[in-house]
Amino acid sequence: MRAVRRFTVHASLPERLTGLGALATNLRWTWHPPTRDLFASIDGELFRQVKDPLRVLTTVPPARLEELAEDEEFLARAGAATADLERYLTEPRWYQREAAAGGLPEAVAYFSMEFGVTEALPNYSGGLGVLAADHLKAASDLGAPLVGVGPLYRAGYFRQTLSLDGWQVEHYPVIDPSGLPLDLVTEPGGEPMQVCVAMPGGRRLWAQVWKARVGRIPLLLLDTDVEANDEDLRRVTDRLYGGDADHRIRQEILAGIGGLRAVRRYCELTGHPQPEVFHMNEGHAGFLGLERAREILAADGLNFDEALAGVRAGMVFTTHTPVAAGIDRFPVDLVQHYFGDGRLLPDIDVRRVLALGAEDNPGMFNMAHMGLRLAQRANGVSALHGRVSRRMFARLWPGFDDPEVPISAVTNGVHGPTWVAREMSALLGGSDEEWGHDGGEPSARPEVGDQQLWDLRRDLRGKLVAEVRRRARASWLQRGASALELGWTNTIFDPDVLTVGFARRVPTYKRLTLMLRDPDRLRALLLDEEHPIQIVVAGKSHPADEGGKQLIQQIIRFVDDPAVRHRIVYLPDYDMAMARYLYRGCDVWLNNPTRPLEACGTSGMKAALNGGLNLSIRDGWWDEYYDGSNGWAIPTADGIRDPLRRDELEAAALYDLLGQQVAPLFYDRGPDGVPAGWMSMVRHTLDTLGPRVQASRMVREYVESYYRPAAIAVTAALEESGAGARSLAAYRDRIDLAWNRVRIFDTEFLVETPETLVVGKEIRVRARVDLAGLDPSDVQVQALLGRVGDTDDLLDPVVVPMEPEGGGGFGASLRLPRAGSLGYTVRVLPKHSLLASPAELGKVVLA
Ligand SMILES: *Cc1c(COP(=O)(O)O)cnc(C)c1O
Repeated sequence: MRAVRRFTVHASLPERLTGLGALATNLRWTWHPPTRDLFASIDGELFRQVKDPLRVLTTVPPARLEELAEDEEFLARAGAATADLERYLTEPRWYQREAAAGGLPEAVAYFSMEFGVTEALPNYSGGLGVLAADHLKAASDLGAPLVGVGPLYRAGYFRQTLSLDGWQVEHYPVIDPSGLPLDLVTEPGGEPMQVCVAMPGGRRLWAQVWKARVGRIPLLLLDTDVEANDEDLRRVTDRLYGGDADHRIRQEILAGIGGLRAVRRYCELTGHPQPEVFHMNEGHAGFLGLERAREILAADGLNFDEALAGVRAGMVFTTHTPVAAGIDRFPVDLVQHYFGDGRLLPDIDVRRVLALGAEDNPGMFNMAHMGLRLAQRANGVSALHGRVSRRMFARLWPGFDDPEVPISAVTNGVHGPTWVAREMSALLGGSDEEWGHDGGEPSARPEVGDQQLWDLRRDLRGKLVAEVRRRARASWLQRGASALELGWTNTIFDPDVLTVGFARRVPTYKRLTLMLRDPDRLRALLLDEEHPIQIVVAGKSHPADEGGKQLIQQIIRFVDDPAVRHRIVYLPDYDMAMARYLYRGCDVWLNNPTRPLEACGTSGMKAALNGGLNLSIRDGWWDEYYDGSNGWAIPTADGIRDPLRRDELEAAALYDLLGQQVAPLFYDRGPDGVPAGWMSMVRHTLDTLGPRVQASRMVREYVESYYRPAAIAVTAALEESGAGARSLAAYRDRIDLAWNRVRIFDTEFLVETPETLVVGKEIRVRARVDLAGLDPSDVQVQALLGRVGDTDDLLDPVVVPMEPEGGGGFGASLRLPRAGSLGYTVRVLPKHSLLASPAELGKVVLA
């Protein structure tokens, strides 16, 4: 029988246990082991099954709760946990200390289409969502006042199982938000708070808003499954990354425009400070910038261009994909359909909207381009990805060389307290202060011997092995095997064998099957008598990606072979719950993307925090953090065009590394059984990568280099009824009119005595500039001096400002920086105090 409808009945807690409610609904328990212990002590078996304190409270028999209400020892522990949470939520932390220096925003709204806080709130598909949640958790630890916003999906992302022949099968279990650690946000009268956005044809799309508590951070999740909506509109938030372009644009309109409206109303209702700075985690929520423009237009009597200056000042855009095909785009007609009748954003002309998303293809609207045009500050997510993004988007800033394109980089980080095994943090010192999560410098860690650390690594490997056996058996049962024939699953994998993990989504560039390139070599590595290797593989393919499913099937065909199935396994349904075991238990974390298509990658960081060593192509974060002794870099065949040839070369390098370096080092044991060489790499990884891969480091960078300057800029733009924004917009107009007529002529290069040029000699560069009516203070004129290659392109130039000399002349003195072939040029750039970068307007005049 199936239920026609499901609903959740809330537990009524005995008076003396009411504190448990607050502990169960604040998701800090996901990174606070003592709180988890408390709930485990209510019913250990139940907690292991549901892994969710709230479900423990709603499922445990009321008699057990009555019993606990009389248990003084339990009550004391619950009281201590509640007091600890209260202290965590209210005490001043790093941000409050930092705020003393001024300029920090009162609040920042962080928009993302997915948030992976915990498997108990399955509202994510993979890396992007987990990163977004780690960002909120670290912000909470640091005391940074963020508000998270995104959709709540009724079916989240899919759960993956396998058919007998190894084909991915998708399931979409429907969630009931009232059974999740979420509260419906309500109006003072008790009715649900709702926001609405206009839809074509005079319709409206309504959403109610659920709030998750991520430590100190409210996370607002919009849910369209409400009665006020037409049937089709109720399904707007049905699932993550499902459906066609029309479905997606509705989701994104809701997330961006509805999301900002939800934040505004939530802050009004609760007294939470209103955000001044807005962070778009990827382009999907970019419509929020348009809603922000509408707000400014309505409030300050500015025109659209002036409002845009105000929007840009407070907006931060983070791009996550170096793959052009990965960028979110819509047919222009579709955008026209939703924005064209002027009801969605009154006062904003649809042509202005379309211009913000313009790209090379006039039929397409590009969300990343819109994000870059709406945000004064933008970044990629690793140093390499920053460089790739500057190249990829360079056309938006014509006339500038890639290094000057105003997109910088903040390397992603992961939330240590979520991802480090508690055994590991107990051994290495577990407090926020010791790890620096509270924003201080990490303090000295306790001395730990190799033997102790090695024993712990074996323990974690052993736990992974048990989990592998359990999951492999469950998967075979699900594929249709009978329990009788599955005895072998109890002995697969070995807690003493070198364990390699490879788990990720399955787009082509991640090359799930690279390891299968030469099956015989792989088999030989797995079955080596002296130095065997065992490999855990996991990863989901997007439901519409047949190619990805074929790759999974290839893996399954290989691992199903009785000759190797004790040494290699594919585990279906990679999610946070499985990920934890993998990151903690694997000795080696393997990553072999096609460089440079991995923007950052974060799973390897989680492995590193647990003493796992990375074996990876130098892509994403690894390109920047690999130091020669914290793991291994798989050589890349970068220049090779033929992808098959490239795969072949890189796979061969991978086998060589595994067989000749990784395995021998792991099995090189001292008399005490400990591999000293291996352990020195583990220690080096923990000591040097440990602090750098943390999300607390990442969030501090965002606060210092993005949120603070954005808050200062937005104040400068919007205070005094938008005087700054008006001045910047008027300046842009003036520049637009005059720019085509600005000319540089009579450039000259003077040396005092015409002797030979030597390094360090002072020279003078002069030019005359026709400013076409602009004031000299409107521009900066620069001399650039650098190496020249065969094409006369200036390389790594030194840039020196030139001063006005009267009569349209400008001059600068500079010293010859190096020997060899040098060249110079002169250029004119816009200059205004509210520009964040001279390249911002995409305008430059070259001599
Ligand atoms: C960290 C994480 C990811 C992201 O890993 P990548 O290295 O970016 O592929 C994906 N899924 C889960 C469940 C994670 O925890």
